[in-house]
Amino acid sequence: MKKNLSTRLLHTGDAKFAGKVAGMASLPESMPIYLTSVFAFDNIADVDAIYEKETDGYIYSRIAAPNADAVSEILAAADNGEKALVFASGMSAITTSILSFVKSGDHIISSPVLYGGVQDFLANELPRFGIEVTFADLLDGDVSAYVRPNTKIVYTETICNPLMEVPNLEALAKSSHAHGIALLVDNTFATPVVVKPLSLGADAVLYSATKYLGGHSDIVAGAVVGNAEIIGRIKRFQVLYGCVASPHDCWLLARSLRTLDLRMKRHCENALETAKYLEGHPKVERVFYPGLASSPSHERASHQFEKGLFGGMLSIDLKGGQDAAGKIIGALETIYLVPSLAGTATTVSWSAKTSHRYYKREDRLKAGITDGQLRFSVGLEDAQDIIAELAAALEKV
Ligand code: PLP
Repeated sequence: MKKNLSTRLLHTGDAKFAGKVAGMASLPESMPIYLTSVFAFDNIADVDAIYEKETDGYIYSRIAAPNADAVSEILAAADNGEKALVFASGMSAITTSILSFVKSGDHIISSPVLYGGVQDFLANELPRFGIEVTFADLLDGDVSAYVRPNTKIVYTETICNPLMEVPNLEALAKSSHAHGIALLVDNTFATPVVVKPLSLGADAVLYSATKYLGGHSDIVAGAVVGNAEIIGRIKRFQVLYGCVASPHDCWLLARSLRTLDLRMKRHCENALETAKYLEGHPKVERVFYPGLASSPSHERASHQFEKGLFGGMLSIDLKGGQDAAGKIIGALETIYLVPSLAGTATTVSWSAKTSHRYYKREDRLKAGITDGQLRFSVGLEDAQDIIAELAAALEKV
């Protein structure tokens, strides 16, 4: 029957056309962006079969969606994990994963040196739900002194933000598992190029994909990788809480992951050269970088990380403290003050005033994060240009 204009506009080139393209012999070389919140059916039996997992298919994009599944496949492969999930942010990946392991009355052991948002969640948010957190130095990998009968999770970053400390992950996994506790690690700073924590015994690996995985400062996203049982459990909470990444962000993340290996190796090379330069500078009090032989984490990092790779992040304390930190930021030419990290260009951030702003000052100082400490995200430029710019700026301090 001939339809009227408004109807013809709605029902030509619609779901059936998309189905026709999907059934063709040709395949798109790049994954298309499936900008659809929901999928269309011509019978309820197919919907039932998908819910019951008797057939493959999508129903509603908060539950599952093609671009999220495609990028999850890449993330799982990168970390040698069975399964992965992509989230709307690193924070939502971390909070949802933690909440899927604990209930009221449980206990968590965590490193005290963490991204400030996660520290805030653990220190101030979880106690509202009757979940207690002990912050303890976990670098040597022994948790036994802090374990309680109700401890469910040990939590750490693999390169701790912003002091670049590296815990003994293998020992931490052994010690946690000996007490029936799961080890969750945030591998944002290292990425699977530098270390694959699942192979060292971690149970789940978390990411702010906003950082190196995305790598171009154009998306906010998160991820978790682990075995099918753990990811299945976290997935239930992700669907309930609704913290999914958009198809467009998933597509951008997939595009970026194609070059992660190349980018990360260059970030690491440049950071090592920059750290060595800064360590020898008379105006620099201390450089925090696990690739330096002087770092207390150097041996642990060398043992666990891919050969010669120590990440692209470093922090410094300047001899002139806060005053010098303010001056150097003003004197830098292309290295902008950017309160994030891991884009293509070198950037600097002021930890106490941005990422670690909501730490209690006494906790922050106790952890070693000083008021004037600067954190550099070393980019993909020519290392000599980065060093020359830092040298010129340090002249003015
Ligand atoms: N983990 C680390 C190590 C981070 O540095 C950050 C953010 O800076 C996060 C997690 C939180 O990620 P997002 O900002 O993507 O929510």
